[in-house]
Amino acid sequence: MINQKFNGPKDAKNFLKKIRIKKKVINNCEDYILSKLGKDIYENFYKNYTIKQWGIHPKFLDKSIVGRLPIRFNRDPYYVNQKIKVMPKHGYTKLFFNMINNPRINVNLKTSYEKIKNKVKPKIATIYTGPPDLFFKFKYGKLDWRSLKFKFKTLRKKKIQECVQINFPNEQKYTRKVEIKHVTKQKSKYSTLSYEFPKSKGDPYYPINNKKNRDRFDKYKKLIKKAEKNNIFFEGRLATYRYLNMDEVIEKALILFDKLKRRY
Ligand SMILES: Cc1cc2nc3c(=O)[nH]c(=O)nc-3n(C[C@H](O)[C@H](O)[C@H](O)COP(=O)(O)OP(=O)(O)OC[C@H]3O[C@@H](n4cnc5c(N)ncnc54)[C@H](O)[C@@H]3O)c2cc1C
Repeated sequence: MINQKFNGPKDAKNFLKKIRIKKKVINNCEDYILSKLGKDIYENFYKNYTIKQWGIHPKFLDKSIVGRLPIRFNRDPYYVNQKIKVMPKHGYTKLFFNMINNPRINVNLKTSYEKIKNKVKPKIATIYTGPPDLFFKFKYGKLDWRSLKFKFKTLRKKKIQECVQINFPNEQKYTRKVEIKHVTKQKSKYSTLSYEFPKSKGDPYYPINNKKNRDRFDKYKKLIKKAEKNNIFFEGRLATYRYLNMDEVIEKALILFDKLKRRY
């Protein structure tokens, strides 16, 4: 659409320069998008999408939430800007299967940490990957999360839509339609679309980065620091209450592993 309207990237950049609203201080998501893309694009593409996704007006959300989304002027179809983009050769299921397929690794499914914590004596350390408020018995109150309901539709078609993800900023209850086959590149006569419906209840997916939760998490952070002295380390997306992609979580896990290896 942008390409139809503009005569190449330079033209689009110049147009944005004209329509962007200069802001001295960027306090929230709304400020951020207005300052980068102006009122029209904000109103048509970002505002309602953000309200649907988070259940909160962009004025009350931290700028980092939209700051993560790349704004590009080329035909790069990928979502992230990283130079190297890879998928596990035999898929994620096989990757994790191989990782835990070791007699020294014991996996207990459907077992909450709270239930077994007194029975397990860690030789070196505990790495906790659950929500911090739960760990500390909600001492400072509950941290809010956004969740999703997925609806899947499988069709006898090699590809259903032209790209991996289409966003819906309008009246639809879902925010996006994702056809992951564009990324995983399986060879099949079928393909599956997932429709994502944001909701507040359910599995914790996205930390809600607003002032209330930031203040609350800051208090939990102090307890987390103390827990580290007892060799309990909080790692990953839930435990650090941050939206992290897989590569970031894996990097942080390896750094923690090295730190523990050096120490013990
Ligand atoms: C809808 C969605 C789409 C995403 N898409 C992408 C993407 O395209 N690319 C990308 O890089 N990242 C994506 N991510 C992010 C990615 O899923 C996370 O970065 C990654 O899963 C984080 O790993 P983690 O180990 O920190 O947390 P998790 O994968 O959430 O693992 C935490 C584990 O701890 C367990 N646990 C939690 N609490 C307890 C408890 N009390 N007792 C026992 N066990 C507990 C959970 O069951 C879970 O198994 C997406 C996330 C979501 C929600």
